[in-house]
Amino acid sequence: MKDENPSLYGCSREELRSRLKPYVDRSYRIDQIHTAIFEHGIRRWDRITTLSRDLRRRLARDFRLDRPEVVDRRESKDGTVKHLFRLSDGASVEAVDIPEGDRRTLCISSQSGCPLACRFCVTGYWGAGRNLTSSEIVAQVLAICGRMEAQDSLNLVFMGMGEPLLNLEEVRGAIETLTEWISWRRITLSTVGILPALERLAAWERRPNLAVSLHAPDDERRSELMPVNRRYPLGELLEFLRGYPLERGRKITIEYVLIRGFNDSPEDASALAALLRNLRVKVNLIPLNPDPALDEEMVPPEAPRVEAFRDRVEAAGLVATVRARRGDDVSAACGQLRAFDREPRSFPPR
Ligand code: SAH
Repeated sequence: MKDENPSLYGCSREELRSRLKPYVDRSYRIDQIHTAIFEHGIRRWDRITTLSRDLRRRLARDFRLDRPEVVDRRESKDGTVKHLFRLSDGASVEAVDIPEGDRRTLCISSQSGCPLACRFCVTGYWGAGRNLTSSEIVAQVLAICGRMEAQDSLNLVFMGMGEPLLNLEEVRGAIETLTEWISWRRITLSTVGILPALERLAAWERRPNLAVSLHAPDDERRSELMPVNRRYPLGELLEFLRGYPLERGRKITIEYVLIRGFNDSPEDASALAALLRNLRVKVNLIPLNPDPALDEEMVPPEAPRVEAFRDRVEAAGLVATVRARRGDDVSAACGQLRAFDREPRSFPPR
């Protein structure tokens, strides 16, 4: 699809160079534009006063420089901030800013909904949306941070709305731009494990960190939770991960949502550890975040059960951590993103 008035936020410096070549007389103009829009965070061409009036006019005619509109911003008691963006065609998307001491993690979205319909996920409950463009992905970061600066205290996780591996090319374009400021090592892609896309990802010259949503130790339960498992079952997924190229010292994160009475028993912990034997992984346990949109059985285990699960996985020789719940009072926790500014109580019944 050809956007008649495309945004440039998805462009790395090199892409900007080739896109804007016909417009500029000197190549340093590209650097001026790059600095102005990313590092100074200027959002209107007429404000980039280092450029001639004529150039600004021509650029403004052909390229958009506006960002998605922030239509809602909710701050949690714990400092987590959820942003609701409206995109140029009216689609909406959410991103979450999570402060962690002197660090910060931005949880950004790759699609404006999700077609995968995982039973524990509110985004899936609301259904499919469209793929975001690389510009729309980068713009979430710019809108939250104001401007880009080289830094080593910011982490980016593609754990917001959508399945990044169903939109891999745009996600790739966004990452190539974002890595001008943020290291590849501080970016994580989370996926249910779309195998053909994982194969493409494995062939990238450089790769972000990988997190895989597993959530059950057998196909029967995984398919019940995640219909996509019927297409890409556990055995094939784990076999693929066994050969996945990792930099030295790096591990794949295995995400496992703990659901009370469903996948949280000591036997499940042992079965999970057995599945992951000989894989270079660490396990991140996520006590389920309940939501009025989800089925009633979708509740987390009590804390001691979570700890017992973690201990059992660790006793089997794996590294296991429990993800802290952040921002749940503003529906910003994992799996709660929906991009509707409506109150949860008015959700239609499932
Ligand atoms: N589609 C990708 C990324 C989006 S979700 C994926 O599935 O990995 C990021 C993480 O939040 C995933 O591990 C997802 O399974 C988890 N999640 C979804 N709903 C949740 C909920 N209600 N409580 C806790 N974690 C949830």
